[in-house]
Formats: sequence, C-alpha cells, structure tokens
Amino acid sequence: MKVKPHIKRLIVLTWIFFVPVGTWLVYKAYPPNLSGQWLDIFAFLLLTCVVATMPIVINEMFIFLIQWVALATFLHFGLFVEIIFAQIAVVVLLLKMRILRKGELYRLPVNLNMFFIVSVTSGMVYYLLGGQAGPNFEYDTKSLWLAILYAVVSYSMNQIIVSFNLYFIYKSKESYFGKDFIVETITTFITFPIGLVLYILYNQFGILAVLFVGIPFVSLSMIFRLYYSSEKINEYLQKAAEIGHQMAERLKVDDVVDLLIQKLSEMLPVNYAYIFEVTKNDELQLVRGIESGLANDLPSVKKNEGISGIVWGEQKTFLYSARKEWREYANGHIPDDAESILGVPIVRSKNVIGVLLLASKRKRAFEKFQLMIIDILCSHFAVAIENAKHYELTKMQSEHCSLTKLYNYRYFENLLTEEFEKLMQFERKQLSLIILDIDHFKAVNDTYGHQSGNEILFELASRLSKLVGGRGTVARYGGEEFVVLLPDTSKEEAYQIAEQIRQKISNWPFTIKQSLDSEKIQKVMITASIGVATAPEDAEDALALIRHADRALYVGAKRAGRNRVAEYSSC
Ligand code: GH3
Ligand code: MG
Ligand code: MG
Repeated sequence: MKVKPHIKRLIVLTWIFFVPVGTWLVYKAYPPNLSGQWLDIFAFLLLTCVVATMPIVINEMFIFLIQWVALATFLHFGLFVEIIFAQIAVVVLLLKMRILRKGELYRLPVNLNMFFIVSVTSGMVYYLLGGQAGPNFEYDTKSLWLAILYAVVSYSMNQIIVSFNLYFIYKSKESYFGKDFIVETITTFITFPIGLVLYILYNQFGILAVLFVGIPFVSLSMIFRLYYSSEKINEYLQKAAEIGHQMAERLKVDDVVDLLIQKLSEMLPVNYAYIFEVTKNDELQLVRGIESGLANDLPSVKKNEGISGIVWGEQKTFLYSARKEWREYANGHIPDDAESILGVPIVRSKNVIGVLLLASKRKRAFEKFQLMIIDILCSHFAVAIENAKHYELTKMQSEHCSLTKLYNYRYFENLLTEEFEKLMQFERKQLSLIILDIDHFKAVNDTYGHQSGNEILFELASRLSKLVGGRGTVARYGGEEFVVLLPDTSKEEAYQIAEQIRQKISNWPFTIKQSLDSEKIQKVMITASIGVATAPEDAEDALALIRHADRALYVGAKRAGRNRVAEYSSC
C-alpha cells in the first residue's frame, strides 16, 4: 500500500493540532482525581503495556486485546487517563509489530489519531448520557448499561475509522467486512467482560485485581503463542516433507535446484537466494542465484571467505537479523539492501557439498524454527541432487560413445524415429541423412595399431561435430561408421555438407601419437565414402532412410572407387 507524501504530512499535522489540545480540553472538562492513586495508575499502565506487547498471533495476524484494560481504566480513572494510556499503548503496539520503520512512520500518527477519536467519542457518549466516573454497578445499573454502550461505541468508531483509513489513506480495495472485521468483533465480545471483571475486582481488592486478571491473561496469551508456533512448525514440517518428495522425483539437477529455490521463495520472505556447490578445486561455485543482477557472474569463493565460505568452513548454520551483524564478514557480493541472512551448509555423508544462502531486505525476516526446516530441506536437496547427478551421468553414458564422445547408435535411432514422426506430422518438410564409412580402415589398424585407429576415430568425430555444428546431429553408427541427421535440409544441401565432410577428411592428415613402431607423432591420410538420402523423397519410414543412405554409400561410393559422395537414387 503506497500512501502519498502529502497525505502522510496531513496525518502528522492532524495529530499535532488536535490531540494535545483535545487532551487538554478533556482534562479541563473532566478533571481526574488522581491524588493518592499514583501506584494504581502505574499498575494499570504496566498492565496496558504488557497486554500491548502480548498480541495473539494467528496466521500472521496480530490480535491486540487492550480494549479490556482501556474499559477498566476509563471507568476508574476517567477519560483523560484513558486517552493518555491509549496513546502510549499505540506506540508500544507498533514497536511490537516492528512497523515503525523508515517510510512506515506515518502509521504511528494514523493509529494515534484513530485511538484518540475512539477514546473521545466513546467517553463523551458515556458522560453526556449521564454516566458517572467510578460507578458502583451494584447500585448503579444505568452506568452498567452505559458501560456496555461505551464498548459498543468504541467498537463501532473503531470499525468506522478503520474503514475510513483503508479507503482514504491506504486506498485499499479490500472488503470492509473481511477477516479483520470478524476478528475485531469476536475480540470485543471476549474482552468486554474481562474489562468489567477487572474494574469490579479492582473496586473490591484494589491493586491486587491487576494481578488477578493480568496473570491468567498473560498465561493464556503465552499458551496461545506456544500452540500456534507448534502448529506453524507442524505445517512447515509437512511442507518440507512434501517438497522433499517432489525433489526426489525430479531427475535433472537443474529441475531440483529450480524447485528448491521456488519453494523457498514461496515459504519465506526471500529477496535473494543463492545455491553454491563445492567444486573439485575446493571452491564454492554459484549454481543458481535469484533476483540479483550480480548473481550470475559471482566469482568462486574460498573456504572461510565471505559468509558462504564461513558457513562451509564451520559446517554450521548462520542466522543474521540485520546488516550490522554480518557486514564485517561479507566479502562484498551481497546486495546493498539485504538485511537478514540465512546461510545453511548442504551436507551429504558428513561432507559439505554446497551452501544455501538466503537474504531478505527485511530485518529479522527469518525465525529460528525456520532454520530447522531449511536444514531438513537441505538434506533432502543433497540426496535429490546426488540422485539427479547420478541419473544424468548414467543417461549421458547410455547415449554416448565413450571413445568419441558422440551420440551412440541407441540415441541416434530414437532421434531418427522422433524426427520421422515430426516429418509425418508435417512439422518438418524434409529430413536428410548422411552415412559415412572410412575407407580401408582395417589397413590403417594393421599398419599403425588399433590404438592409433582409435585416435583417428576421435579426431574424425571432432572434425565432424565442428563442421556440422547446429545444422544437425552427429552420431557414431558403429565401428568406423558415422551418421549425420539433418532436419529440414534438402538433398542438395545435404550433399554439399557431405562433400565438405569428405574434403575435410581427405585433405587434412590425422595426427597419431601412439604408433606401433615409434613414439613420435605421425600424420596419416585417410579417406571416407559417404552416402546421402532424404525423406520423404527417398524413404517412407526411418529404417528405409538408413537403408537407402547405406545403399548409396556402398553402391554409389565404395564400389565406384571410394573417397566420394553418392546420393540415393531409386533406379
Ligand atoms: P572399406 O570400408 O573401405 O571397405 O574397408 P574397411 O577396411 O574399412 O572395411 P570395414 O568397414 O569392413 O572394416 C571396418 C574396420 O574398422 C574393422 C575394424 O578393424 C575397424 N574398427 C571398427 N571399430 C573400430 C574401433 O573402435 N577402433 C579401431 N581402431 N578400429 C575399429
Ligand atoms: Mg565399415
Ligand atoms: Mg570401412
């Protein structure tokens, strides 16, 4: 909610001009008799402050129950004291809610004004209708009814001003009869009798009444707080388990990282999140960072260097609530507006494999119990990452040839089927296939040895990949045979590429180091025969495309003398 500066100024001025003068007028009109009551006043003020610092927090909503102390204060000490107490309570209350930050300070006069108006109107209604100061309800039932009216007016004025503020100051479109309204109504019903009881007990027992009512209230408030914090922890634990399962299901490392970052930003007030990985060189390398321009080119971090380095070195979780607590440890890579920081080591089999660093622009953004949850999430994460890495490696190995690092036959067959499928669905216009077989490779092996043959295959693979680039996919089809699959490439284009490949092989010698005869480096010239076929013109299914390219290779290139390119022709 953005509030315009001139409205903020107006609010402050309203307080300055009306509240002190108004309070003075109330003092003049209804002078309180306070002689000999200072201890009692102090006891009530203390109670007011204690109640203001002990809101019941339900679902992030703060419920303050100060109305009951206000009622008893008003009935006994009169309107003037109640006004002063209410103003003090607002300050305590806002301090407790930690909203007295820069830029939000105008909320103080907004609430001070509101409490002042509520105090004055309900008090005036009570007095003007004949309500007495310090009534004895046993004989004075009229004042009892007026006390009820006081509560009703106080409640209604409160609601009217809240909706006025929402509409005119915060320009909020929230429904007036929302959750806050219901909570306010319920608390009024609960707190009014407590206020009456405090007043009546106070008349009977004096200052002890403050303890009689205060102690059960404070205890209840604490029980509520414990109950809701355990509820909240349960909820977070459940969420953590669920996220753990989801992470375990992800097969790719990137997906696991994405999921963790996404869920963390949903669960916590996170503005910046970084995941580091411990590399083989014993450094922390950034794997992923969000919401920071700096994040992606963050230099690697050494052990005990900067906050993440310390988290890694000490193998401990660190929680900072404000910038001044961590400033001296940071090494300058944390955004300027970050305040709260949470650093958690990601541990697998007692080894730190990474570090999670979360930062928020808010002070005290993270709570202690959240640390435990994040710790659990990080262990799930460590396992999920290890599994995903293992899966990715196995998948990579199952799809690649270990000698040339090209895709293997298995991968190529799947890709060919997929590409043919696209051709059938008219997502592709054409699909060309180049198949290549080295000429007299047996002789190369016999002359230089099998190991040297391998070196040639390796170099050939690299020449092919470079030459084809993004135009298609190169795979090792078997032995010394290679294929290139070229989607959306015409037969003429494919033929040209094949010709470039042929020349790239025959015109440049291959280097071998591990020759049979000597240790020295040798250069070997080889050639290859190549066949080209294109679907749909040459083939109606994937197997036919291979068969026909192969046929072009053997009939058109090998038989015709080798070191040449031949395209398939049906005749
Ligand atoms: P051409 O194709 O010109 O008819 O003659 P070629 O000698 O190349 O004959 P063919 O294609 O039938 O023989 C393939 C040879 O390639 C047989 C085998 O020794 C060799 N070879 C197959 N796989 C490998 C490999 O992984 N490493 C090495 N060094 N040689 C291989
Ligand atoms: Mg062969
Ligand atoms: Mg051959």
